Amino acid sequence: MPTPETLYMVVPCYNEEAVLPETSKRLKEKYQSLISRGLISDKSRVVFVNDGSKDKTWSMIQELHESDPQFFSGINLAHNAGHQNAVLAGLMTVKDICDMAITMDADLQDDINTIDAMVEKYYEGNQVVYGVRSARDTDTFFKRFTAEGFYKFMKVMGADVVYNHADFRLMSKTVLKELANFKEVNLFLRGMVPLIGYQSCNVYYERAERFAGESKYPLKKMLAFAINGITSFSVKPLKLITNVGMIMSILSVIAIIWSIVAKIGGFSEIGWSSTMCSIWFIGGLQLLALGIIGEYIGKIYAEVKQRPRFIIADFINNTDK
Ligand code: UDP
Ligand code: MG
Repeated sequence: MPTPETLYMVVPCYNEEAVLPETSKRLKEKYQSLISRGLISDKSRVVFVNDGSKDKTWSMIQELHESDPQFFSGINLAHNAGHQNAVLAGLMTVKDICDMAITMDADLQDDINTIDAMVEKYYEGNQVVYGVRSARDTDTFFKRFTAEGFYKFMKVMGADVVYNHADFRLMSKTVLKELANFKEVNLFLRGMVPLIGYQSCNVYYERAERFAGESKYPLKKMLAFAINGITSFSVKPLKLITNVGMIMSILSVIAIIWSIVAKIGGFSEIGWSSTMCSIWFIGGLQLLALGIIGEYIGKIYAEVKQRPRFIIADFINNTDK
């Protein structure tokens, strides 16, 4: 058995007062068992990242830290930075004090019992261990359909993501140090981590239903996340515009020839509906193309400003044993 190394769990929390008591209880039990099995050191901690919650989340995290400083730590962000930024804030804070870090949602949808396998895979030499959902039985048909469509579409669009893997993953200190060199403001962690490389593997788990509270990812946010993922990782949509533009140009040459022939042939009166259709169609296509280009320009704008991706107001952590 190798000497136990230090594991920090990073758990983003936005308005999670309903699930925190149960999540912290289960994580504490898991940590006790991992420590007694000699898999992780007793310096290991669970860091809850409060992402600008409007409810009692932060005061609950503070209480957890006070009653169990050897298990629970907390980061308080100055404002709501969004899930990806909250995760990154946690990872960047712990990267120098841990040997490995696992990111996990607060709502217990990710199976805590997978942590054992992740840590074991780490000792086998994997720098990244992806938690992959083996089944989506608990999701509604709609969620499953949109989520699986999302992974497939991402692949088609040229962004390399691990199928059915969200943000439940283990990363070694080495990988975290490399992740720190990715300065992009438009974060899409599940696309960034595969880019880093190193030896990695998957562990499979069944995703449960949210333990309590509501999803913080309604359809609107999910769509925005998907668009962000694609435009942050691929310029294929821009190439698509060029291709469509080329096809349309070829078609328009044919249309011009046809209209001249029609003029000469003396049957050019007809064609009101085809004109109307093409005006609407081309107009829509142009707006769509402009929108896609605008999406990228917006990205460049955000990147150029180089604003901080998160602002940490407090970090409560007990580094003693
Ligand atoms: N979350 C966050 N900031 C946000 C939105 C969500 O830190 O602005 C956290 C949330 O507390 C949870 C995780 O991100 O731990 C995933 O959110 P949720 O479970 O609501 O998403 P879903 O699983 O429904 O996609
Ligand atoms: Mg969830």
